[in-house]
This record gives sequence, structure tokens and C-alpha cells, in this order.
Amino acid sequence: MSHHVQPASVVVVGAGQGGYRTAASLREQGFAGRITLISAEDALPYEWPPLSKAYLKGEADETQLWLRPVTYYGRQSIDLVTGTVTEIDRAARTVRLADGTACDYGHLVLATGARPRTLDVPGAGLRGVYTLRTARDAAALRDALTVAERVVVIGAGFIGLEAAAAARGSGCEVTVVEARGRPLTRVASAPTAEHFTRLHRREGTRLLFGRGVAALRGTYRWGRVAAVQLTDGSRLPADLVLVAVGVTPRTELAAAAGLPVTGGITVDARLLTEDPHISAIGDCAAFPQVSSGNRMRLESVQNAVGHARFVARRLTGADRSYDEVPWFWSDQFSTTLQIAGLDEGHDSEVVLGDDPEAFSVLLFRGQTLQAVESVNRPADHLAARQLLVGRSRLTPHDVTEEGFSRKGHLAHLTSGRPASFAG
Ligand SMILES: Cc1cc2nc3c(=O)[nH]c(=O)nc-3n(C[C@H](O)[C@H](O)[C@H](O)COP(=O)(O)OP(=O)(O)OC[C@H]3O[C@@H](n4cnc5c(N)ncnc54)[C@H](O)[C@@H]3O)c2cc1C
Repeated sequence: MSHHVQPASVVVVGAGQGGYRTAASLREQGFAGRITLISAEDALPYEWPPLSKAYLKGEADETQLWLRPVTYYGRQSIDLVTGTVTEIDRAARTVRLADGTACDYGHLVLATGARPRTLDVPGAGLRGVYTLRTARDAAALRDALTVAERVVVIGAGFIGLEAAAAARGSGCEVTVVEARGRPLTRVASAPTAEHFTRLHRREGTRLLFGRGVAALRGTYRWGRVAAVQLTDGSRLPADLVLVAVGVTPRTELAAAAGLPVTGGITVDARLLTEDPHISAIGDCAAFPQVSSGNRMRLESVQNAVGHARFVARRLTGADRSYDEVPWFWSDQFSTTLQIAGLDEGHDSEVVLGDDPEAFSVLLFRGQTLQAVESVNRPADHLAARQLLVGRSRLTPHDVTEEGFSRKGHLAHLTSGRPASFAG
């Protein structure tokens, strides 16, 4: 017997990848109450990954980014509201918008995402300096790239590298500056990062590591950026600068409402905040990882969509903990990187494959497989996801046997020995 009582209405703050998916999944789960999807952006909900890939390269237009046509929302009775939520009144179970209107909720889902970090250096506000998060940011950057000649990208994370590839593709001279010693330090292992360094250099992009930005210098008359001054004293001429140095989760609404924030909006394994009427999902939510129990935020479409589906099921009666294995992808030039699992500090790594353009890196902590990074090896990625879902018993020893690491594919291992992965 279920004691579950569905809320009469659900209000979702933010109509990004997670917010949209929450509303859509609620209807798919048969939720019949009122759904209000509030978006600070004056645009139909859209896909975010192309913003630093096909869209930036001019290979897709805005309408191709839309997750659904406008008619979908009417048909599904999803009330799509343009506006910025400025306050949550938990006692009254109401949110207030910047235009003064209010909206009552039975359950509130915070899907506010994150905003790009900016540089705290002189000249950071010059014209010609961009960040990339929303479709509007991407449109401005795309237009600027068509006339730019010398582009400096600050930060060699996924967004910086993808945008650098797009800029290079449109014929710009491109330099990437990274304060750490290699690209992708937060998100990928050394062998994978090494591949991307080689790839970008081969395509003619200059990569500078271990150097920070001291200032952005402008032209005297127009207030436009003209150069990037590095901490080692060198100066890079630039007519377009992209700052891609990570994001800050948008937690201020939750914090102002008295909800705990620990690096992100704090939620439990059911993605509920301290308030049983408020959930938080996607980039803004710090949730306990299945693998370690550590609470952290993840920034990926799979995470936002997985959270959204989970919360929609929970609100319509399911009662369990969130336990999806994280996965992620990135496209740069001819390379597709796919990551399965979560590397929370590995102590050994095994590289499968002897082709420098197609390999997988297995990351272990002790005897436990934590994550697999596949460079142009999609079959390994799918196999890795299955392994990680099954709480694999794959050990470093298994994959280094008899030269397996040079020739082998994870897919062979998993299909050859299904029984050993059951528990
Ligand atoms: C350029 C780019 C490329 C990416 N590429 C990939 C990729 O290849 N693979 C991958 O897995 N991930 C990728 N990501 C990451 C992925 O897009 C994010 O992890 C995902 O969009 C997070 O979803 P979300 O719903 O949590 O937040 P978001 O999609 O950021 O949406 C949050 C929305 O909430 C709105 N909002 C915030 N506060 C309020 C408020 N108070 N009132 C009303 N609205 C509000 C914001 O305006 C925004 O529209 C990329 C991200 C970017 C920016």
C-alpha cells in the first residue's frame, strides 16, 4: 500500500536541461496537476551541448536547438513562464517573480543551473570579452567569431577547448591559456589530457600551461580588448577573449530561503532539500554520490536529465534513492571523448588500446573500477557503463593480463565473462 500523496501542483525554477525534463517527465508519468516552468531566459527550452559545438561553428540555428516546438507546452498543459524568481516564501509555499507576480506550489523544484565565473583582473569588463553559458551567449560569441582574427581562450576545460576548436575551425588564430599544468585537470586523467593537447596543437592552436592572467588590456579609444597580459609578463594580442574558467552554482534563492548550501544546494539521496516540499536538481544541486557517499555537484546533461526523471518519478509515487552512474561526452575536431563513472581520486590507471587516436583509460581506486574515459572507442564506453551499473568486480589485474591492455576492448571482456560482473 502506498502512502504517497501527489502534490497538486509543481513549480520548476529554471527551464534548462533539468527543468524542462522535470516538466516533460511529470506528464509522461501521468502527473495531472498544474505544472509551471519558469525561465529567466526569453527562449524555448533548448539543448545546451551544441552551444559550444555545432551551433558555435554555424552548423545549426536556434530553432534546431529547441527541445520541443512551442505547441508541445500547450498540448501538455505545461505553463511556460518567462521571468526570474526572486524569492521563495516557504511558509506560504509561494515563489515571487521579479515582475511582482507570485506563484503557489505544492512542490518546488530548483533547477537553476550555474553561471560562468568571471576573472577578477583589470580589464575584465572590456568589450570583446565573452563568457559562454546560454544560447544568447553563444549567439554573441558566434557572431564575434566570424570577424575575429586573434582569439585567446582562458581556461582549458571542456567548454574552453570545444570553443577553441570552433574558433580554429572558423580560421582564427587561437591561443588557449591554462593556469594548471595541463588541460582538463578537474575532469580527465593525464593520458586523456595528453591526447587533447596533441590534438589541439596538431590543428594549429597554441596551448600555454602554468600561466595565469594578470590583466586584459584595451584599445585606448574604444574600450575593446586588445591583449591579454599573463602572469609571466608576456602579452598576447587578442581581439576576442573567451573566459572559460568554470561555473558557480546558482544557489542564492535557496540560501535566502534558509536552505543549507554546501558547494551547491544541499540535497539527500532522494534529491530533497531540508524542506520536504523543495527538491534541487542538476548543476545547482550537491547530492550524495552512490560510489562514495560524498556530496558533490556534477555538471552534465546526463546528471540534470537523470535527476529530473528521478524527481518526476518520486513525485508520482516511486520511492528509492538516486543511483545513476554518471556519464559525459565531449566532441573536439575528430575526437569524441566519453566518460563513464566518477573519478574521485584514482591510484592506478590502465590504458586499453595501442592506437593513440583510439584508446580507453580505466581508473581504479584500489581494486575498484571508478571511471572509464574512452577516446574514439564508443563500444568501450557502453561496456563501461554496464560494468559500473553492475558494481563491477573488474580489477587492475584483469585488464593487464596477457597483453590485454594493448589490444583488448572492454566490450570483449564484458561479453566474455558476464557471470563475474553480476555482483
Ligand atoms: C556551452 C556548453 C556546452 C556543454 N556541453 C556539454 C556536453 O557536451 N555534454 C554534457 O554532458 N554537458 C554539457 N554541458 C553541461 C550541461 O549543459 C549542463 O550540465 C546542464 O545544462 C545543466 O542543466 P541544469 O538544468 O542543471 O541547468 P541549466 O541548463 O544551466 O539551466 C538553468 C536555467 O535556470 C535559469 N534560472 C536560474 N535562476 C533562475 C531564476 N531565479 N528564475 C528563473 N530562471 C532561473 C537559467 O537562466 C537557466 O536557463 C555544456 C554546458 C554548456 C554551457
